[in-house]
Amino acid sequence: MITQGHEITAALKLKTHSVVIGSGAGGGVAAYHLAAAGVDTVVIEEGGYFQAKDFNQREEDMMPALYRSAGRQTTTDGMIYVWQGSAFGGSTLINTADATPIEPEVLHHWQQHFGLGTLTEESLAASYSRVYKDLNVHRLEEHLLNRNNSVLLQTARRLGYKTGVFDSNRKGCVGSGYCYSGCAYDAKQGTNLTYLPRASELGAQIYTDMRVDRIERLSTGRYRIHASVVERGSRAYRLPVEIDAVRIVLAAGTVHTPAILKRSGFDKGLPQLGRNISLQPQIGLAAHFDASDKMTSWRGAPQSCYVSEFDDNRASHGLGGFRMEGVGGLPGILAGFGKTIGKEHKRLMSEYPHTQFTALLVPDQPTGTMDWEWGADGKVKPKIQYTPKAEWVQRFRKAMKTAAELMFEAGARRVTFNSTVYPSITNRDQFAKIDEFPVAPGMVALTSAHVQGSCRIGLNADVGVVDQNLKLHNLDNIYVVDGSVMPTTAATHTMIPIMVMADRAMHALLHQA
Ligand SMILES: Cc1cc2nc3c(=O)[nH]c(=O)nc-3n(C[C@H](O)[C@H](O)[C@H](O)COP(=O)(O)OP(=O)(O)OC[C@H]3O[C@@H](n4cnc5c(N)ncnc54)[C@H](O)[C@@H]3O)c2cc1C
Ligand code: SF4
Repeated sequence: MITQGHEITAALKLKTHSVVIGSGAGGGVAAYHLAAAGVDTVVIEEGGYFQAKDFNQREEDMMPALYRSAGRQTTTDGMIYVWQGSAFGGSTLINTADATPIEPEVLHHWQQHFGLGTLTEESLAASYSRVYKDLNVHRLEEHLLNRNNSVLLQTARRLGYKTGVFDSNRKGCVGSGYCYSGCAYDAKQGTNLTYLPRASELGAQIYTDMRVDRIERLSTGRYRIHASVVERGSRAYRLPVEIDAVRIVLAAGTVHTPAILKRSGFDKGLPQLGRNISLQPQIGLAAHFDASDKMTSWRGAPQSCYVSEFDDNRASHGLGGFRMEGVGGLPGILAGFGKTIGKEHKRLMSEYPHTQFTALLVPDQPTGTMDWEWGADGKVKPKIQYTPKAEWVQRFRKAMKTAAELMFEAGARRVTFNSTVYPSITNRDQFAKIDEFPVAPGMVALTSAHVQGSCRIGLNADVGVVDQNLKLHNLDNIYVVDGSVMPTTAATHTMIPIMVMADRAMHALLHQA
C-alpha cells in the first residue's frame, strides 16, 4: 500500500520489522527484496508520490516537485550543482536511464587499495542479472538518438575512437526527451515503476511526504524512528510519526543518509562519516553549429552515446581518463544553470536549436566532506565542501580540449564552456587557452548527478562506515544501501552500481537470516 502524506490526518505510531528510508535506486531494491522475503517492511520517502499523469513536461513545475531544493543544491562555494531526485523513486525518477556497470578495473582498485576482497565480478554477477532483468536493461534503440548525440557518435567513429550506445532501462520509449522531468509515458523503468510497486504488492507499506528526522536506539536493542509528515512542496512539518523496528535500511542518498546518522548520534566511532565524497563534476560543453543544422537536443533519449577512447588508465589508480557523452539539454536547465550572462546568455539561448551539448565524465578522487545544520523546522541544511585535486583539473581540461577538437571536426563554428569569464573558442589555434580554464567558484558552473561516498565501505570503522555487507560498523541491524557506500567513485553512471550493491547486500542478509 502507498500512503501519501495528505492522507494522514493524525499523529502516527507504527511497529514493523524493517524500515527502508528513501525510495530511490538503493531503497527501491532493498524494499522489494525485503518484502519478497516476507519481511514486514515500511518504506519512508520524504518526497511526493507522482505518476505519469503528473509529469506535465514543464521544467518550472517539475524541478521544484521532483528535485532536492528544486535542483539548486550546491557545494558551499556555489561552484557545483549537486543534483538529486527527491520523490517516490528518488533520482531514478528524473535520471536519463543510462545503465552502466562498475568497470572491473574499479573493483580491482577497491580490492587492492581498500582490501574489499568480497566485491568481485563473480560475487556481483547474480545481482547484475537480477537487476538488468528487473529494469529491462537493453541496448538503446539507435532511432532514439537525436542529432545532438549522433553527431558526437558519428564523428568519433569516423576518427576511429572507441564509442558506444548506452544500455538503458526503458520500455516503450517514445523519445519525448523529458527524462529529467519525469517520464509521462511510463517508459523509464525507475524504481517508481519497478521495485516499489512490486514491494507494495508483496505487502510493504510505503509512505511518501514523510521525512525521517532521527533514529533512537532503545534499551531493547530495537530502534525507534522519529519522523515527520511534511507538506508537499514546502516540506513544512505537519504531524509526528514514530515507528518501532528491528532493522533499519538507510537509502536516503549520499547527502542525507549520513545526516540522519549524525543527528541520531550514531556518528560516534565512525570518523569517516561524511568524508570521502566524489562528485564527478560535469561541464556542458556547448558547440554551436550553422543555424540550418538542427541538433534537436530536447527530443529523443537525452543522453544516449559515449566516446570511451580516453576512458583509460583506471588500472593504475581506479580513477583515470575521461569519457565524453552526448547530453540533451532542456531549455530550462540550460537557461537556469548556464553561467553566461547578458548578451552572451541571450546569444546562447537563441542558438539553442543548433547547439550540441557534450558532457564530460571525468572520474574524481574522493576529496569532499560534508556537514549539516538543522533548522528549527527540522529541515536539514547540508554543507558540501569540495575542492577538486590539481590532477583532476588537468584531466578535465584535457577532456574539454579533446571534446572541443571533436566538435570542430564535426563542423562546429564556436565552442563555449559555461563560464562567466572564459571566452568562446572559434578555432583550433585557441585550444592552448584551455590550459588556463578557471575551475574556480564564481567562474564556472559544474553539475554533479553522481554524488557518492560519505558512508564508504571499509574493512573497519577507522577506514569506513559500513562493512562489505553494507552493515554499519558500530551498530547491529543498520544497513546503508545507497550511493554513499561507494569507496571511490564508481567511475561511471551510478544507478546500476548502487542497485547491484544493494541487491547483493540484501541477498546476503536475507540468505543468512
Ligand atoms: C538528473 C540526473 C540524471 C542521472 N542520470 C543517470 C543515468 O542516466 N544513469 C545512472 O546510472 N545514473 C544516473 N543518475 C544518478 C543516479 O540516478 C543516482 O546516483 C541514484 O539514483 C542514487 O541512488 P540513491 O539510492 O543513492 O539515492 P536516490 O535515488 O537519490 O534516492 C534517495 C531518496 O531518499 C529520500 N530521502 C532523503 N532524505 C530522506 C529522509 N530524511 N527521510 C525520508 N526520505 C529521504 C530522497 O527524497 C530520495 O527520494 C542521475 C542522477 C540525476 C540527478
Ligand atoms: S525520452 Fe523516453 S524514457 Fe525519457 S521521458 Fe521521454 S518517453 Fe520517457
